[in-house]
Amino acid sequence: MLLAAAAIAGATGTANAAAVQDAATVEKKHGFTNTGLVRDIDWHVRDAAGKPLETPTKWHVHDPYRPNPVKVEGVLLTTPAPADADVLFDGTQESLNKNWDAQFGGKPRRQEMWRVPAGKDYFVARNNDITTKKGYADAQLHIEWRVPAGRKCQSQGGANSGVMFNNGLYEVQVLESHTNITYADGQAGALYNHLPPLVNPARPQGEWQSYDIVFTGPRFDDAGKLIAPAYMTVIFNGVVVQANQPMNGPGDYKRVSGYATYRKHPARQPLRLQWHGDPIEFRNIWIRDITATRETQKAAEAAALKELGR
Ligand code: MG
Repeated sequence: MLLAAAAIAGATGTANAAAVQDAATVEKKHGFTNTGLVRDIDWHVRDAAGKPLETPTKWHVHDPYRPNPVKVEGVLLTTPAPADADVLFDGTQESLNKNWDAQFGGKPRRQEMWRVPAGKDYFVARNNDITTKKGYADAQLHIEWRVPAGRKCQSQGGANSGVMFNNGLYEVQVLESHTNITYADGQAGALYNHLPPLVNPARPQGEWQSYDIVFTGPRFDDAGKLIAPAYMTVIFNGVVVQANQPMNGPGDYKRVSGYATYRKHPARQPLRLQWHGDPIEFRNIWIRDITATRETQKAAEAAALKELGR
């Protein structure tokens, strides 16, 4: 098994040598041997019933032998909010309290807003998830995050959070992935539980990192049938790691994704930041409501057409 993994790793880059060395540890820790196969779905090819073509891959969900992507150099993109963006965090506790709700969770179970340390312009994850007060459907998100220096990490432990659209259904993983090796579909920039990032531009602990994400929510018909999947484009430290990628369903630990796992849900739901036991830091968060912008633009165009008599 290790030899086979080594052969695959050798074909895709030197960074995978570490992954192969650690695979046995990861497998031992998590016990992943039969989590079910990840499915690749081609949304452009349909069967007679209109269902997208779905093919099981040979990778298990969270497969420790799946090669980790090649390491590349990424740099923080720290972009200011455009005029039409909702600023979800401007560096102050006031903006955090104004735009987010603490969810009930953690051990012991509490409901606590995350905190901006005195004199700082970032906030720190603690005790429970937080969600935006406003819901979003299609959106462009900018968010910066940092693993505090000195974290001891192993696989999913030590430096884990997540940027989760539609109130937790579709997660872009936040994890220490500069030196910490985990299963490929669970590292930073992965669409958690089904697709690794294209490459790995993660920066070291103690350094700020950026995600620029375009999320397009799934579409359902009135009967609840899925007519288009969710799509995700993720730019991680300036590098595209998910390119208009159809999502094979909601993401969750050990969850086998696939066409059948989609369930009709409201299009507009809060953005969620995940508490996974680690004090991940966040700053400069803004989001553009693409759905609302599109509706405004369509209304303006309809008015213009009417005036033109077309
Ligand atoms: Mg996570």
